[in-house]
Amino acid sequence: MDSSVYPNKDFVAASKKWVSIYCNKESEHGSKKVGLDKELCAIIAGITCDEHTKNFAELSGKFFKGTIMNPTHIWCDPDGNEIGRQVGAMPTKGLVEKMGEALKKVGPGLGGDEYAYMNDKIAEGQKASEENKPKDAIAAWTAVTKMSKNPGAKNVVARAQAGLDKLNEYGKDQVAKAKDLATGGDVEGARKLLKEIYSGYKGLDCAKDAEKEIANLPKPK
Ligand SMILES: [Zn+2]
Repeated sequence: MDSSVYPNKDFVAASKKWVSIYCNKESEHGSKKVGLDKELCAIIAGITCDEHTKNFAELSGKFFKGTIMNPTHIWCDPDGNEIGRQVGAMPTKGLVEKMGEALKKVGPGLGGDEYAYMNDKIAEGQKASEENKPKDAIAAWTAVTKMSKNPGAKNVVARAQAGLDKLNEYGKDQVAKAKDLATGGDVEGARKLLKEIYSGYKGLDCAKDAEKEIANLPKPK
């Protein structure tokens, strides 16, 4: 597999949709010098023998009990749960087919362009939030959370949702502050603050809360 299947261009193309972790506890095959000061594994491109022996130590206990058949291929969903396994060697074509089956179980996944777009939007939201432009931050982060139907987007969507949650929490604190102002007799101060939250945080629960509290305030004279 190391010398015939993994370097095959069809396997390389199929593997680009996966994060591949090569596990091998052997290191007798040795390493080769790359450049001036780098020593890489002699049989697997781009990693060191230290890396693949560590991978084996970390993961063998999670996926195997007792004897480990070499080679075994295991496919996992983005959370690391096993969704497919192939014990024993097989030709490139068969392995690529197996990868296709596993891919169907995971769902459509996230394309590179989508991923870049979502990351840009998250950064845009972060910047707007730091510049105290909640409207812009909400627009940018909501563009990301809209993509939550794609299971492959789960982790990126969670990052955008965390930003929205933080803004909502801040908005709710401001609504509570406005209520205190109103109780203390500063009705116009409360009204001003509530209007800010109502118009600046639209789309979040705190804006709805602010709307309700505005309706509860005594009418301006
Ligand atoms: Zn090695």
